[in-house]
Amino acid sequence: MLQNVSGIVLSVMPVGDYDRRVTILTKEKGKIAAFARGARRPGNNLIAVTQPCIFGEFSLFSGRDSFTISEVKVQEYFSEIREDLDSVYYAMYFCEVADFYTKEGNDEREMMKLLYTALKALVRGQMSRRLVRSVFEMRTCVISGEGPMLNECVVCHEKIPEDSRGFSVLNGGAVCEKCREKLPVKDVMVLNPSSRYALWFICSTPAAKLFSFTVSPEVEDELAALSAEYLFARVKHTFKGEKLLELISD
Ligand SMILES: [Zn+2]
Repeated sequence: MLQNVSGIVLSVMPVGDYDRRVTILTKEKGKIAAFARGARRPGNNLIAVTQPCIFGEFSLFSGRDSFTISEVKVQEYFSEIREDLDSVYYAMYFCEVADFYTKEGNDEREMMKLLYTALKALVRGQMSRRLVRSVFEMRTCVISGEGPMLNECVVCHEKIPEDSRGFSVLNGGAVCEKCREKLPVKDVMVLNPSSRYALWFICSTPAAKLFSFTVSPEVEDELAALSAEYLFARVKHTFKGEKLLELISD
């Protein structure tokens, strides 16, 4: 039976002599794996449309335990990303994180929307790629239910005053002055008030507006350090894409 799903290609692997196994994050079925028969044969019409980051409508045949791609109507190639190696690394990293966090049969629409808007932001280039990454990392944690606690102290649950600046990555949120003194120094980051506000914005703003702000270089530095550590403390997993991103400097 043929069915249509809308989705973004997360990864592509060669299979056999001429085929590809394509992982797609879909609106309807969560993350799925589908085979693209002949997609490595010269002249095959699936070659160009089974690439990472392709967004579109996929017509699938469902077999006993896998899908086979029959046709793809591409809505977005994100070809600007492929023209620039640094952007490719960022996009690969986003896809890898999305892959790690999603499952077949789950409702993954929020993650799909986040990935799509992050890729769009890379193309637009208004926001630095590093800031796009911070937003993507923090928001991924929020979607998975591991977002930081920002309005109350993560240790004692007292309301956090406006001017409080302590943040504990390990405990997962803001810490009040009293609790900050009790935690080991290495467990507490002291945030610039603008970083604290940016963090609050990233965690609470609607997805459509997420990639529409700028910050000073200092705040960008703080957010970059915080978000990477925050994500790592939750997943305890080093992504391949992260290693690639260490090679580029922006
Ligand atoms: Zn406290």
